[in-house]
Amino acid sequence: MDRRAAIKAMSYGAMSAVGGIVGWQLADIWHPAGSRPVPQPAPGLGPEGQSGVEPIDADAIEQASGRVDPLADEGGVGRHVVGSDSLPSDQASYLQKIRDFDQIYPEDIILGEDKLAILKSTARRLNKAQRVIGHGHFNLLSLDNLVKYCRRYSSIGKLTQQELDFLEELFFADATDYGFYGEKVQIEITATVPQRDAVKIANTGHFLFRGEAQAKYEKMCKDLDDGIFLTSGIRNVVKQMQLFLDKAVTTDGNLSQASRSLAPPGYSFHAVGDFDIGKVGAGLDNFNEVFAETDEYKKLVDLGYVELRYTPTNPFGVRHEPWHIKMQA
Ligand SMILES: [Zn+2]
Repeated sequence: MDRRAAIKAMSYGAMSAVGGIVGWQLADIWHPAGSRPVPQPAPGLGPEGQSGVEPIDADAIEQASGRVDPLADEGGVGRHVVGSDSLPSDQASYLQKIRDFDQIYPEDIILGEDKLAILKSTARRLNKAQRVIGHGHFNLLSLDNLVKYCRRYSSIGKLTQQELDFLEELFFADATDYGFYGEKVQIEITATVPQRDAVKIANTGHFLFRGEAQAKYEKMCKDLDDGIFLTSGIRNVVKQMQLFLDKAVTTDGNLSQASRSLAPPGYSFHAVGDFDIGKVGAGLDNFNEVFAETDEYKKLVDLGYVELRYTPTNPFGVRHEPWHIKMQA
């Protein structure tokens, strides 16, 4: 078994050590947030608390909340009769979590002190690499090329073995362990984006895949008289690692909290075609619910462009993202 396969196997809990390499043993390095003082979650969402934007996919949420509550599959408290007029308590708390995504919840999974220190040093190095390589090209960078850049440029510095191990552990961990239920999109940690498949979008610093994604984006811009622009396009593994680590630094190593607003590395559909759009001049409001109130967003909906991946009631454990445009089914 090679090293990556060994780590992958261990991260799924198959064994504790192979060939002297110890993988992520969740109990050792993560602990539930409940073991330290946390703010009390707000009262559960009642049916009146739902946005009314779309019908709730009760089956999908039941699946997701059932994973949170292992009793669900055995007829425990997680069971929900589809079509009943009120949400069972587990679904209500699930919806509350993705609505108040930046709160800390008692069952959140948080890195221990040692791993938190490695998380921070790795995040610093990835940010240095991004400055040296440039934000645009960093979006497409493969892990193998990151390692080469780090070796070559003393201003970045070589990735330490601990940092590399950490990146592998994060990539191969099962994100459902900390509350992210989306599909794994990239299987290979060394995935590459061929230059010929990507097109740089002028004045944005971002790339889209040639073909459908580029055509859809260009038509959207035209139909909205260039009132919108690309805020994030293709993101390969390394870029998603950098974003996720930065987010996890701001949450003090709370991986559950981080994953409620950002897909973990390997789980982002930005790797396969999805992209984010914003209103020209709206700044940070392009990344919160305000975007859904803009005339630009409403026009996109009217024109039939908007098929959201992360709806207000999505079953993936992620906040509502009206700016994220779905390309892949
Ligand atoms: Zn997005």
